[in-house]
Amino acid sequence: MKVVVNRDNCIGCGACEAICPEVFQLDDDGLSSVVCEDFSKVNENTVEEALESCPTSAIEKK
Ligand code: SF4
Repeated sequence: MKVVVNRDNCIGCGACEAICPEVFQLDDDGLSSVVCEDFSKVNENTVEEALESCPTSAIEKK
């Protein structure tokens, strides 16, 4: 799985980072970015949970 954050839709609520900080982190602009492309060491269920928790559906699967 690969995910991207559509930064036009991100409102910087921090939910994704709170749920899965290994993959999502707010940057200096206060918006989320994907900081890990290799999910082999990440629980993909947590990535899915973050995706589903985003209030603006800014996280998209590729
Ligand atoms: S949960 Fe969605 S809106 Fe909130 S910081 Fe993450 S990507 Fe942005």
